[in-house]
Amino acid sequence: MQNPIKSICIIGGGSAGWMAAALLSSITRGNSIKITVIESPDINTIGVGESTVPSIIDFTKAAQIDLKDFIQSTSATFKLGIRFDNWLSSGENFFHPFGKTGKDVNGFDFYQAWQKSLADGEKTRWLDHSPNAIMAEHQRFMLHSNQQQHWIFSSFAHALHLDAVKAGQYLRELCVKRGVIRIEATVQNVNVDKDGFIENVSLADNTPVSSDFYIDCTGFKGLLIEKSLNVAFQDWSDYLPCNRAVTVQTEQVDLPPPYTVASAQKAGWSWHIPLQHRTGNGYVYCDKFCSDEAAITLLKANVKGKLLNEPNIIPFKTGRREKIWHKNCLALGLASGFLEPLESTAIHLVYKTLVHFIKHFPDKDFDELNETAFNEKINADYQEIRDFIILHYCTSDRTDSDFWRWCQTMTIPPSLDEKIKAFRHRGSIEEEQGKLFTSDSWYSILNGMHIHSKKYHPLLDGFHTQDLANTLNKNVQEIRDMVMKMPSHHDFIQTNCPAHSFGQNEPQD
Ligand SMILES: Cc1cc2nc3c(=O)[nH]c(=O)nc-3n(C[C@H](O)[C@H](O)[C@H](O)COP(=O)(O)OP(=O)(O)OC[C@H]3O[C@@H](n4cnc5c(N)ncnc54)[C@H](O)[C@@H]3O)c2cc1C
Repeated sequence: MQNPIKSICIIGGGSAGWMAAALLSSITRGNSIKITVIESPDINTIGVGESTVPSIIDFTKAAQIDLKDFIQSTSATFKLGIRFDNWLSSGENFFHPFGKTGKDVNGFDFYQAWQKSLADGEKTRWLDHSPNAIMAEHQRFMLHSNQQQHWIFSSFAHALHLDAVKAGQYLRELCVKRGVIRIEATVQNVNVDKDGFIENVSLADNTPVSSDFYIDCTGFKGLLIEKSLNVAFQDWSDYLPCNRAVTVQTEQVDLPPPYTVASAQKAGWSWHIPLQHRTGNGYVYCDKFCSDEAAITLLKANVKGKLLNEPNIIPFKTGRREKIWHKNCLALGLASGFLEPLESTAIHLVYKTLVHFIKHFPDKDFDELNETAFNEKINADYQEIRDFIILHYCTSDRTDSDFWRWCQTMTIPPSLDEKIKAFRHRGSIEEEQGKLFTSDSWYSILNGMHIHSKKYHPLLDGFHTQDLANTLNKNVQEIRDMVMKMPSHHDFIQTNCPAHSFGQNEPQD
């Protein structure tokens, strides 16, 4: 017998809350499920979270959002990957592109073929084979249609840099138009029944709001999942010690590049995220190695353009909830956990959590096995991303500060240790289906950090050396030729999706 959920209450109106409302209102449109969002007028959203990964495009499709309108309303720019400055050592940089690097050669993984070409004396760079990296190098951009079958088009992928506050406002407006109920109030109490299920939440004026299911989007404090349901937090700060960030916005002085810049600093790293109308900047650091005052000074010294606001310090804790779904409550966004923003993965994790949740959508019987299956999937996603972020620290050669000397001796999780050892031994990274970071992403960081394996697939020795070299050189040339015909990133935006002018979306007096 069906025992369907009839109502969902989302507590919190930050990016996580409104993304949940947008996606669920789209997916459940034929199910008459009442969706309510309660957001506090007194507690601010975190207001950061401006660099994304390509799944943001999947999110807009699944939530039936008009991408062009979204870009124009959030002053977004396109992102082809991340440029990492000074991570291996001072003065070095490398790029982590989205999309596919290289074209498989006779069914063999491209990285293996490329390794063989190096062993044969060829000199093409790993990134010469990435359309995204070459587009970024020349600040070019274009979108491609599904009709364009050329291998280069099917290799590239992009994400967005967007204004977090405007994105929240955009999603809120869209959801309210769709019939999502918005309550502007602060939740004061969460009432839990004898079986540990949430019965209702009560607002500051004591009004109770009850629902079949609750989504905790209240940010780091996790009002429902932690404060009321007592789900523990698994602390990962032994692996990822950065625990604070200082952020500031600046005027745009250069044309916005189609990538995020992440520069290693003495006690962490700093970011620049270019939007159409301004740049978002931040410094992520560990308070054992840097004071807030020193962090503010460093950030100010590393930005271009006039400051648009006062620097804002944000403390955070790295890790995740032991259970992201517990009983009739799902934790989403910062309430579910946090991994520092080095690879811009938090908004992706919001989307991925929702995708798993929709696959495991409960009924009112709340089958525990279903909840467990969901938790295993999202835990695996968290672990994959955690390991990938640690890779950036544990492979660095920097020894110029206490922070980087600490990284030289850091303990790494066994899952990552095995992966790096396997790579050194066999020269390959196992491709795992459904994971955010493909083997190409791993190769890009390993290669950027000068971690190589002398091995490649043994059967590639059967390849004719000159034929392989010709194929690789031809591909490199094709990528360059195609990229040089593309418009600049700036021109593409101006022609196709310039930001709605300032204030256009603001309510008029
Ligand atoms: C330094 C830093 C940099 C980041 N950079 C990136 C990035 O580049 N890319 C990326 O993907 N992510 C990034 N993130 C993460 C991203 O900011 C968050 O994942 C995203 O904003 C979601 O936040 P949230 O909605 O969970 O929480 P918040 O934005 O904190 O929203 C919490 C909401 O809950 C409401 N609330 C709280 N208590 C109550 C209550 N009692 N009653 C009613 N409402 C309540 C508040 O009013 C607010 O609306 C970054 C995070 C940090 C800390």
